[in-house]
Formats: sequence, structure tokens, C-alpha cells
Amino acid sequence: MSIRKVLKYGTASLREPSKEVHKVSQKIKVLVDDLLDTMYAQNGVGLAAPQVGENYRIFVIDVSTNDEPLNPMVFINPKIIKKSGACISHEGCLSFPEAFTDVRRYANVMIKAMDRNGRSFVLEAKDGTLLARAIQHEFDHLNGVLFIDHLINRFEAEAELEKHDLPPIEVDKLLDEPELQEEVDKLLEAKAEKKE
Ligand code: ZN
Repeated sequence: MSIRKVLKYGTASLREPSKEVHKVSQKIKVLVDDLLDTMYAQNGVGLAAPQVGENYRIFVIDVSTNDEPLNPMVFINPKIIKKSGACISHEGCLSFPEAFTDVRRYANVMIKAMDRNGRSFVLEAKDGTLLARAIQHEFDHLNGVLFIDHLINRFEAEAELEKHDLPPIEVDKLLDEPELQEEVDKLLEAKAEKKE
């Protein structure tokens, strides 16, 4: 078990799609353990294998709070089998040290994956919980997609990246998500009305 170096935004391999795991070998188990060690060392909520330079379809998540016992979750060859609803998620990423911005996410997801022992499981996360949002964030990494690709306010995101000495937004990577954006607009309107 060891702590790996986390690649920063701007590294080309973060944009590459990762490959399926064919066998949960000893080598893969070591990678899973290293991902967990690295995530905990950096106080992260999640970490995907491509972030440590291993382009395999693996990520780990732990959404437990400080006063709860650790709850490591391992996802190998994950597939999102259902998604619905929308939410606004204020996100950061270990590959974007200290930068945070609002992004579009589904509120509910159902995911199928294998655990560290190669056993298949299905998990549902609802109502825009941290787990629901983390699953989408980490899953994206396996396809070379980064959280800023879902940004809601380009100027805000751009300023945040600049403030933390990170490369600018990659405009050609921005995702067009009209249905999600429509839902997000409704949420923003409701928020504005509440404030008045
Ligand atoms: Zn990330």
C-alpha cells in the first residue's frame, strides 16, 4: 500500500478513456488499495485510477464524515444503469487543488460495478446526495471527462481556475446538456425566489 502522486489538470492522460479490468488480479488489488490510501491522505471524497496515471476503469469513494467510521467503496468496471432528476453540485477534484465550481448533475443514479473481490453489486444513490454526485464525478474520470465540463457558469469557473494557477477551461470539452440545464435553471429560479 502506498500513496501515489495525483495528476493535475492539464495532464493529457486525464482526458483519455480508461480500459476495462479483465481480472481483479493482485496488481489490481494493490492499485485499489493505493487509490484508497491516496484518497484518504488527501482528504478526498473520491479518486479514480486515471488520476494516478493508471487508465483502468476503477474508482473509490468514501462519503463518511469525520465522526463516522471509514466506509471505503470500490467500483470496478462500473456502469450507470439509471439516472434521473437534476441538481446543482459545488465540486472540486484532487486533480484541481483548491478549485471549486458549480456543475450540473443528475440527482439520482443507479450503478452496477464489481467490488475489490470481483463481486458484482448494484447501488442506488438518490436526491443529489454527496454519494450520488461523487459517483457521477468519478465515473466521468474513466471516460476522460472532468467536472468542469459540466460547468454552470463559465466566467466563475474560469476565474476559479486562474486563481489556483490551473490551465484554462478546454472549451471544446464543455458538455451540451440541454435537458439537465433546463432543470438546473428551474432550481436557480426557485433559489432566487426564495431570496427575494
Ligand atoms: Zn475528480
